[in-house]
Amino acid sequence: MPSYASVMDDIKNLSPSDKEKLIKFFEQVITFGAHIDGVADEIKESRFSKGKVCPHCGHHEVSRNGKYKPSNSFEYRQRYICKNPDCKKTFTDFTRSPIYSSKRSMNKWIIYAKCMINGLSLRKCVEYVGISLPTAFYWRHKLLDAIRLFMGKGIVGGIVEVDETYFAESFKGNHKKSSTFKMPRKSRKRGKQSNVRGISNELVCVVCAIDRVGNIFAELACKGRIKTSNLERMFNDSIEEDSILCTDSHPSYIKFAKNLGIEHQQIKSGKHKEGIYHIQHINAFHSSLKNWIARFKGVATKYIVNYLYWFKWLQFFKNEKDTIKSKNFIVHSSAARSDTKIADFKHRRPVYA
Ligand SMILES: [Zn+2]
Repeated sequence: MPSYASVMDDIKNLSPSDKEKLIKFFEQVITFGAHIDGVADEIKESRFSKGKVCPHCGHHEVSRNGKYKPSNSFEYRQRYICKNPDCKKTFTDFTRSPIYSSKRSMNKWIIYAKCMINGLSLRKCVEYVGISLPTAFYWRHKLLDAIRLFMGKGIVGGIVEVDETYFAESFKGNHKKSSTFKMPRKSRKRGKQSNVRGISNELVCVVCAIDRVGNIFAELACKGRIKTSNLERMFNDSIEEDSILCTDSHPSYIKFAKNLGIEHQQIKSGKHKEGIYHIQHINAFHSSLKNWIARFKGVATKYIVNYLYWFKWLQFFKNEKDTIKSKNFIVHSSAARSDTKIADFKHRRPVYA
């Protein structure tokens, strides 16, 4: 029978690296213990904020349909059945959420969310959460696909700073498991910039916009240089009327603002601040985005949108406490109905807005 004294003796005899692990373990238990209990309830509330709805067809008439015990919990939970005669499917409070059908405990998901909030590498996630590398990868994009649905493109208004930034097109992850994939060009060392100077088709263009009340727009626009048509397509319904557009002197924005019928303030390069019209916020946003994304050592173009939304979420909720953030990341990712499946990863394509 272990006693306090015997446990303390055991701890003293642990190797330094095991002591380190123990400290991490206690940090997690202490930090999250108080928060985990309420998460399932919060997920329920946010998913069904307008009353119970069938997650398969959106029908509002549903009835209770017995209880079930999920494999990752000791508690029995309610099951429902849809009363739409064409659907009649059963569902739970978690159906079509990232954690649905997971064999791992909520605890692990929240620790994983904490790793994501800190922008840890997949290998670090494996170490902290105790899951395999493929699972860590799967969870990352399963959660981000859902966060993307939760946040949506969003709307910017008032004084809106817009600018574009470029990333090297990357086919990372495409070659290994596919017998049919052919690299369209000689491969680069990962994370390295493109071989060609200037803006070529080896770069993909990301357009971001930010307004003065903190709304953020960040999407993958196109391959190569940005065109007015790309801007028009991607900003469709995402800029409020009567907005004032602040951009650099790139010509695509002139036509874009003109066609949209909104005021346009162009900030000439070298000139940084012209009263309230400037592009300092968007420049700062881009440099912190680039800085943050560099840790992933080259992001596959087909996943870049997920990283944009990951960063956007972090920026949006940067003033929340860390423990609240981890919990909210899971609650938010469960709010929308998402259906990411491992089988779909192979066929994934870049998501151009
Ligand atoms: Zn239904």
